[in-house]
Amino acid sequence: MVVDPVCQKEVDEKSAPGGKARFRGEVYYFCDKSCRAAFQRSPQKYLPNKGEEKELNYDPRMFLGDM
Ligand SMILES: [Zn+2]
Repeated sequence: MVVDPVCQKEVDEKSAPGGKARFRGEVYYFCDKSCRAAFQRSPQKYLPNKGEEKELNYDPRMFLGDM
């Protein structure tokens, strides 16, 4: 099992109901198509900030909730 990065539910990667999406070389699986759509709109919102690779469309508003 893997964890859906959007809603944190466990998803079986062999039959993920929401399908999967690739981001920066990692594959993520989703419990629902709406979770996948949300992830694809703004993947960084759902992933831990690794503090590297600043994106061209970097948006400082993403970090207002941190700390
Ligand atoms: Zn989900």
